[in-house]
Amino acid sequence: VPLVLTDFLDRAVDFYGEKKAIIDENRELTYNELNGRVNRLSRGMHSMGVKKGDHVAYLASNTIEMYEGFYAIYQLGAVMVPLNIRLKPEDYLFILNHSESKILFVDQDFYHLILPIKDKLETVEHIVVHYKENGTSELSYDEWLTGFSEAPFPRETLEENDIASLLYTSGTTGDPKGVMLTHRNNYLHAITTMHHLRVTDEDVLLHVLPMFHVNGWGSPFYYTANGATQIFLRKSSPKAIFDEIAEHNVSVVHMAPTVLNSLIQYFDEEQPERSDKLRVVIAGSAPPVAFVEKVEKEIGWEFVQVYGMTESSPLSTISRILPQYEHLPKEVKYELKAKAGTPMIGTKVKVVDELGEEVPHDGETVGEVIVRGNGVMKGYWKNEQATLQTVKDGWLHTGDVGHINEMGYLTITDRKKDIIISGGENISSIEVEGVLYDHPDILEAAVIAVPHEKWGETPHAYIVLRKDSTLTESEVIEFSRSKLAHFKAITSVTFIDELPKTASGKIQKVHLRTNYSDSTH
Ligand code: ATP
Ligand code: MG
Repeated sequence: VPLVLTDFLDRAVDFYGEKKAIIDENRELTYNELNGRVNRLSRGMHSMGVKKGDHVAYLASNTIEMYEGFYAIYQLGAVMVPLNIRLKPEDYLFILNHSESKILFVDQDFYHLILPIKDKLETVEHIVVHYKENGTSELSYDEWLTGFSEAPFPRETLEENDIASLLYTSGTTGDPKGVMLTHRNNYLHAITTMHHLRVTDEDVLLHVLPMFHVNGWGSPFYYTANGATQIFLRKSSPKAIFDEIAEHNVSVVHMAPTVLNSLIQYFDEEQPERSDKLRVVIAGSAPPVAFVEKVEKEIGWEFVQVYGMTESSPLSTISRILPQYEHLPKEVKYELKAKAGTPMIGTKVKVVDELGEEVPHDGETVGEVIVRGNGVMKGYWKNEQATLQTVKDGWLHTGDVGHINEMGYLTITDRKKDIIISGGENISSIEVEGVLYDHPDILEAAVIAVPHEKWGETPHAYIVLRKDSTLTESEVIEFSRSKLAHFKAITSVTFIDELPKTASGKIQKVHLRTNYSDSTH
């Protein structure tokens, strides 16, 4: 039997049909209702000529309309192309044309981003607008779908190596690349992850990460397969997150460390109700150990860190404490949990030097992280050269740098592109940021390499201060010197109101580098 994603919805319908599947602001659906809507949508797409292998794009926040799109597309054997809602019209033009998408579904809120490029779309034949109230001449989703039946849809035959999704990477380091993931990739990723995150039919997931991005996009599969309830939150303020957790007995939230940071701050200021049955799953980048301690000790949530990338479906490692280490002191366990963790089932992880030789597991020798396993992508869409450079002999070269300790825990120390090389020494920008986060006045920090006459490069910090702070550049430099080896200490600071971030909350150091060179030239 091929491993195909439609299985997951089938299972939910067979065993949890009358259970609450989705809460989307003031709308709720059972799995049976969801399934009916999925069938109706498959018929709608079929009537527009969507065939096996066609690409269907979505520009939407987390909504029922987007969610049902996944399974409707898979029933037709077509491919989902989710678009990041924070891009610019030119970016959409590039991705829609590059991906050769045939239909575009778009939330009314984002339609204005498509209007300026509409005439330049080369492959899009239909645009359908969700929640259309007025104004556009496009098809309105709800009107269009009335009339299509909710009865079971005669499915296309799927093979497990058929492409399920074409996901564009975050563009943290440059232009986004189209990653082809197969049904098998996603299916096995879902099965493995649900095991490691201990997902059950009793879970209530609050979606804070956007589904259009790989971190938020994989989770609907394994929560659906378990008949769990999923809550969508379109505008996620810390208050809204705490309110939802209390109101719906939420048991899991997946989020980026930047969001966790804002929750911790809100918790300190407002003292909202605690909930000790919640686990937070942190994806996307490593948080400081202090966050882990705060979350577990004071807020009372269980902390889980995961590491991955779009190219690996995405997750490769998880930071749960293995039973043989449960006896260790709490502080040591907080440190382990803040790491990327140990490989998930079906995945092998190695850290290698420039010659491709594995480095010793001593917790300090760094090298490039390479990953092999069920999640590794089929390749980059229309970019064979990049595929060949990234996947070699089945090993995905992540571009991330890290080390593995004696206990087998991986730590990501940096991206290859972000390392600062000062006087011949490698400095991890993440390590320096971790120190800055320890300062009570510093809300956010990002460290980049800047040119230096004597040392080649030195660390420069971009810093967002807490309200009312009067911290100066020299105080920040002094603070970093008091906590770090002097060659690692920052040499200059730019104070900034906000750091540039991707839609999933990752800091875009590329933009900081441009900002820095613009400011010095
Ligand atoms: P692009 O490839 O377009 O530059 P991106 O790499 O940010 O963007 P994603 O695939 O969304 O796109 O992100 C994967 C990257 O996120 C990883 O390669 C790694 O650098 C970082 N990352 C993910 N999880 C963690 C983690 N737990 N700790 C540290 N870094 C992480
Ligand atoms: Mg990447």
